[in-house]
Amino acid sequence: MRAVKLVDAHQLERVDLPDPEPGRDEVVVRVNGCGICGSDLSAYKVGLFSDNVPGHEFAGLVEAVGDGVSDWQAGDRVVVDPKMPCGVCADCLAGAQHRCAIALTAGLGFARPGGFAELVLSPARLLHRLPAHLALDDACLVEPLSIAIHGVERVRMDPDGTTVVVGLGPIGLFTVAVLRARGVRTIIGVDPVDDRRRLAVDLGATGTVATAAEIRATVEPAPVVFECSGHPDVLHTAADLVAPGGTMVMVGVPFGEARVAPLMWVTREISILGSIASSEDDFRASIAMLAEGPALARIVTRRVSLDGVPAAFEALIAPSSGGKVVVDPRL
Ligand SMILES: [Zn+2]
Ligand SMILES: [Zn+2]
Repeated sequence: MRAVKLVDAHQLERVDLPDPEPGRDEVVVRVNGCGICGSDLSAYKVGLFSDNVPGHEFAGLVEAVGDGVSDWQAGDRVVVDPKMPCGVCADCLAGAQHRCAIALTAGLGFARPGGFAELVLSPARLLHRLPAHLALDDACLVEPLSIAIHGVERVRMDPDGTTVVVGLGPIGLFTVAVLRARGVRTIIGVDPVDDRRRLAVDLGATGTVATAAEIRATVEPAPVVFECSGHPDVLHTAADLVAPGGTMVMVGVPFGEARVAPLMWVTREISILGSIASSEDDFRASIAMLAEGPALARIVTRRVSLDGVPAAFEALIAPSSGGKVVVDPRL
């Protein structure tokens, strides 16, 4: 099969690999589409999880099933939850499998081969069936939408309070859409890229601003701020927008160190919450939300072939246009 491998930092290669064969309790999925995630880009920059096929946001058709698999058959339309929690750590035992330190690092597209390939080997238990009215082309968005749902679930929302979303990449855009679906009336998106701000308005933002200076001039301190950029440098700016007693939810995943001046955080008594991955409930809620709202798929602005993946990653490092890029191995 054709696939793309991360060889080293900034080095993706189109490779030919043997077709995977399903073992006991495993299935092989033929990939229809696999989104490029911000964490794929972070891994790409430093060569994390190298010598592997990346891609964890994928959906497709069951190609083959192994022994012991009775719930699935060839041709089933599925989306795969790539996380593989260990099942024995304190988080797993407490029902917070999404927080398990093993869950993501050992999952499909991290330590195990993922979706930038024609075929993926997956434990059968990671599969979710698509409802009839959810288009297969859109189903690779289930995983990133579930991340946004999880972020919004972290905090009690006041529909009448202004909510700010900082960073309008795919996760920020989906956060806007989830807030809108929850009836939040005033949603302000912040991002320097014009196309992203336009998409945010499409998905339900009631206003957008481009720069930190503009934020302070036009946006009242907000009870809830979602930091979705994942840039450590933006952390302080985002926290500065939180009203006294309010909350910042960190949905973006900042890999580097941040310089902050936390005096105002303390004196305003703001809460800072982390949010990572998504629970099984979030994943199911995401499937239902996408099935009901196919317009969410407009965040996909490009589909690229496996051959186009290395160039697509380089282009995404300095994004000048908005939207999600999906790898389509059928192209
Ligand atoms: Zn992701
Ligand atoms: Zn665990």
